Amino acid sequence: MIIGLEIHAQIASRTKMFCRCDNDSFGVEANVNVCPVCMGFPGQLPVVNEEAVKKAIVAALALNCDVKQFSKFDRKNYFYPDSPKGFQISQYDEPLSENGFVEFYVDEGKVLKIRVARLHIEDDAGKLMHVSGGSLVDFNRAGSPLMEIVSEPDLRSALEASEYAKAIQKILRFVGSSEADMEKGMLRFDASVSLRPVGEDKLYPRAEIKNLNSFKSLEEAINFEIERQTELWDQGTPQLSAVTVGWDDEARKTFFMRDKEDSTDYRYFPEPDIPPLTFDGDFIDALRRVVPELPDSRYRRYSEEFGITSDEAKLLSSELDISNYFESLIKSSSNIKLAVSFVTSILMRYLNRDLIKIGAQKVTPLMMAELINLVDKGVISNNQAKGEVFEAMYDSGESPALIVEERGLTQVSDLDAIRGACLLVISDFPVQVEEFKSGKDKVIGFLIGQVMKSMSGKSNPQVVDSVMRELLMK
Ligand code: ZN
Ligand code: MN
Repeated sequence: MIIGLEIHAQIASRTKMFCRCDNDSFGVEANVNVCPVCMGFPGQLPVVNEEAVKKAIVAALALNCDVKQFSKFDRKNYFYPDSPKGFQISQYDEPLSENGFVEFYVDEGKVLKIRVARLHIEDDAGKLMHVSGGSLVDFNRAGSPLMEIVSEPDLRSALEASEYAKAIQKILRFVGSSEADMEKGMLRFDASVSLRPVGEDKLYPRAEIKNLNSFKSLEEAINFEIERQTELWDQGTPQLSAVTVGWDDEARKTFFMRDKEDSTDYRYFPEPDIPPLTFDGDFIDALRRVVPELPDSRYRRYSEEFGITSDEAKLLSSELDISNYFESLIKSSSNIKLAVSFVTSILMRYLNRDLIKIGAQKVTPLMMAELINLVDKGVISNNQAKGEVFEAMYDSGESPALIVEERGLTQVSDLDAIRGACLLVISDFPVQVEEFKSGKDKVIGFLIGQVMKSMSGKSNPQVVDSVMRELLMK
C-alpha cells in the first residue's frame, strides 16, 4: 500500500491571507469577518500578509524544506459556492518551499523518515452547511491563510499516516506556525491511497480521500480504501484512473465523488494582482534562527543526557513552553533528577488541575530552582517542598526561602535533637526494636516514621535513618 498525505493547516495569524479581516471566527456569527477583498469583489486588490508568510517559512524550515528565494502565487480556477472569488489563490509551479522531510517515532524506538515534497501558501474557502431545504454558506473562513504540506508517497500503513500527521501537528504547534486545532478545523487531511504488487516501483492510479478532519477518520478511511482496492485487485479489475472520494463519517466508508481532476482542469495562471515573493538569504537565515530545537531532538537529548524515563522525556519535550521552562530551570539548578520530578509530577499536576498554561502561573523557573536547592541542601525535606512550600509558592508567588522562614519549616539536621528523638522512640517501641535486631530490616521504616512524627516532619529522613541505625547497632 502506497499512501501520501496533503495536510492543510491554518496559519496562526491575526488577519486573513490577503486582507485585514479577523482570522479568528471561532464561535462568531456567520458572515461578519468579511470584506470586499475576501469576497472577491471586482477591482479589489489583495495584499500579502507578511506575518503569515513568515510563519509559513518557519514551518517550512522546521520541516527541513528549502525555502525558495523566489516564489509566486497562482490562481487555481474552479467554481464552488463556498468560494466567492471563483478561484483559489495558491502556489502552483513556484512554491514557497520544497524537498523537506520529517522524522518521528512510530513504535518505541523505531524512527520513520518521510519526505515532504513541498509546503506552499494558499487561501481557504468558506464553509457550507447542508440543512433541510437547502444549503447555507458562512464566508468567515474564506481567505484564511493556509499552508499546504504535501508528502511524497512514502507512507505504508494507516497507522504510519496518522503518526506522520501527528508529528506534523506537533511541529507546527511547537514553532507557533499553526494552532493546528482539529476541533476548530485548523488541520485537515487529504489522503492518496493506491496499491501495487510487491516488488514494483511504479505508482498505480490512486483514490484521493478528501477533507478528513480527525486522526481517527484518517486511519479508518485509509483502511477502508485499502480493503476496497484490494477487492478490486483480487477480482482482476483494479482502478484504471485516479478518483476523488469522500469519507462518510456516519457510515464509516468512502464514497465516489468524481474522477480525479488534474492540474489542467484548474487553468492555473500567475495571480496578476500579487507580485512574486522574493527573499534574500539574510531574511531566510534570520527566520532560521528563530526555529526552536524540535520536540524529537529534545526528547532524544533529555533521554540520553539525563537518564530519565521515556514518559518524563516526552512530557518535557512535547510542548514548547513547558520544555523551555525546564531548560531554564536546569540552567540554575544542578539537581536534574529533582528538576525533572518537580516539573513533571508537581507543577504539571497543578497546571492540569487548573487548566492553565505554564506561563500563566506564578512559580518562575528561578523560584523552582531555589526550591530545589533548599531540598538539595537539606534545609527542607522533599515532602515539605513538594507539599506545603510548593502550594504556597503557586498560590502567592512568594519566594520559597521566605515561605520556609515565615512558616518555620526549616528541617532539623541538628544531630543532638535527632539522637534524642531516636532514643525516645527506641524506648517506646521495644518490640519493633527486637524485630529489627533479629533481622527484620524493614521495621526501620516504622521507627524512622515515629521519629519524623515526633519531630513534626521537620527532620531530615536520611539523617534520621543513619542515626537510628547507628543507635540500633550498638
Ligand atoms: Zn476580508
Ligand atoms: Mn490545497
